[in-house]
Amino acid sequence: MAEAVKLIYPTPRARVQAMKEYHPPLGNRDTLRLDFNENTVACSPKVREVLGRISAGSLTRYPERAPVEAVVAAHINLAPAQVALTNGVDEAIHVLFEAFLDEGDELLLPVPTYTMYEIYASATDARAVAVQAADDLQFPFERLLAAISPRTKIIAIANPNSPSGSAATRAQLFEIAARAPHAVLLVDEAYFHFHGETVVDLIGVVPNLMMARTFSKAYGIAGLRLGLLAGPVELMRWVKRVLSPYSVNSLALACLPPALEDTAYLDWYVAEVLAARVEFEAALDEAGVRRWPSRANFVLVEIGARHKEFTRLMSAAGVLVRDRSSDPGCDGCVRITVGTREQMRQAAVVLNETLAALNLKGGAL
Ligand code: PMP
Repeated sequence: MAEAVKLIYPTPRARVQAMKEYHPPLGNRDTLRLDFNENTVACSPKVREVLGRISAGSLTRYPERAPVEAVVAAHINLAPAQVALTNGVDEAIHVLFEAFLDEGDELLLPVPTYTMYEIYASATDARAVAVQAADDLQFPFERLLAAISPRTKIIAIANPNSPSGSAATRAQLFEIAARAPHAVLLVDEAYFHFHGETVVDLIGVVPNLMMARTFSKAYGIAGLRLGLLAGPVELMRWVKRVLSPYSVNSLALACLPPALEDTAYLDWYVAEVLAARVEFEAALDEAGVRRWPSRANFVLVEIGARHKEFTRLMSAAGVLVRDRSSDPGCDGCVRITVGTREQMRQAAVVLNETLAALNLKGGAL
């Protein structure tokens, strides 16, 4: 037999070798999905209709982003050159970081927050600087201001934030932008529709302000991967150099205009979630579960030391929730997406049964 050949593989950049693996639990989710903050029902029927009419011939063509960027820009009162559509907000974050973060730069992040900021930052030569929220998980405004340095290049703020559900005020965001004129302030408004407050009117007015929105949450098209990045032309031009002209597929582009037009569907879904959140929060209070106030379509709760078993039992009973215990400052915490009232009544029943099974009735241990 021939001697075993030792295979030699080329090595990636040191930064990439040092990156953490990240595998969100996306498998086996054909049940009540309260784990990823998606829309828990469906997209607008108008979007479904457009999807159904897409011809085989049209799929042979590369997608053209510009006309749809003009539609979305008009929808939020911006100029087409001030917006870019991306393959989910994740791509917007990735491309923005690639365009701006150099060796020696700092990315400032209030934590806990959305995981992908740190992941994309770790692929660059910049350093992520985490600013820990206090126990109430409110936006750490003063601490963030104090952490701004001449090296700060990007400040990424999810507003409302995940997993905490808390929000920064417009005045706070405005102040941060003013105190770090050498840095890009990215306000990630993924959960905007459930909160209602935005900085979109300041785009192009505040020179270092950028904003992201997603179509994965309220609009219910997470599977199509569609995000939006907005900012002054002077910043967007650099982002657009890095962004692939092909990254948003033609199905997503076709679905965006009907998604924007069907405001009745969006309003219905948001109102349903907000009504469900009130009911579900009351159920949590009755069960004695500590929770944080939420401005989004999810609630962070404290389960305590048995968070893993809790998540597993909930999932076995058909309700998927997300263990966030390893997020900074979230020891023992689980995040629960809010869907419709009917879904959340079902979730509350399963939650109570799970707490009883774990002898946690009356509060976290
Ligand atoms: N930003 C925040 C704060 C999020 O929670 C999420 C989704 N979990 C995203 C961005 C990513 O959105 P998208 O699906 O558009 O990539």
